[in-house]
Amino acid sequence: MTEHVGVDVGGTFIKAGRVDGAGRILDRVVVPTDVEGGVDAIESRIREVVSKLGHAGSCGVGVPGAVDHDRGVVRSSPNIPCWKDYPARERLAAALGCSVALDNDANCAALAEGWVGAARDVESFLLITLGTGVGGGVVLAGRLWRGESGRAGELGHVVVDPDGRPCGCGSRGCLETVASATGIARQAASAGLEGSVEDLARAARAGGSGEREIFDEAGRALGIAISDWLNILDVHTILIAGGVAGALDLLGPALEREVERRVYAFDSSHLALIPALLGEDAGIVGAARLCTDGDEEC
Ligand SMILES: [Zn+2]
Repeated sequence: MTEHVGVDVGGTFIKAGRVDGAGRILDRVVVPTDVEGGVDAIESRIREVVSKLGHAGSCGVGVPGAVDHDRGVVRSSPNIPCWKDYPARERLAAALGCSVALDNDANCAALAEGWVGAARDVESFLLITLGTGVGGGVVLAGRLWRGESGRAGELGHVVVDPDGRPCGCGSRGCLETVASATGIARQAASAGLEGSVEDLARAARAGGSGEREIFDEAGRALGIAISDWLNILDVHTILIAGGVAGALDLLGPALEREVERRVYAFDSSHLALIPALLGEDAGIVGAARLCTDGDEEC
């Protein structure tokens, strides 16, 4: 079976794996990203992991940030600031001596979940990652929808409160400001509550009304955003990934109330909210999948 290498470049670590044709990670390597070292240092780290894996075939690379998929260029990456209009595909292909496919990490996660994860039997779905920020991927009729300029799936920047808090993207009241781990922690701090999302979730389950209110608010925001996507795309399956996904039981009731209330002509019993399955491996598996993703054969 054909093997490919998937490289998941994060702001702190580069994780890479040799992935077989069934989506299994056969071997993996993790090294620090060395963002301070700049473009050349990151390239040599990527070369290091790929050579450690002993692979001479094609590589898929997932990156955090805005990617011009057609040109193979990273337009910007908040976690890797030196990758500004960085021609990643060309540079990495030269550094690695093999063909390279490139996409952002959320699209890679969606590809992975659709291939061997929670959506493997589903033709159309949205993946939403609730982590430090909120990212997403859109898969329609079995194909990743990248949009006309490669920026589709920015699900975290859907507005849920026009007068809400400013968002890092320049807008205001984006889903990310409320339903990310950062947003939840901020809401908690302003209510005088402390702890990680896990701590807050534990307290909410034990009956903490302040904590419960915060998850209700995040669930409500998610429900508003999901209702908009359902009205536009009529997909029934939403995968929830990232650190906040563990609190899906707390987000669910308010979320479902909003969907019930807002989606036109929709039987809300058809909505399937599913936790993603692959966790941290999704980045590696999805990056490897880029190498065989339809017209992207590399
Ligand atoms: Zn935003």
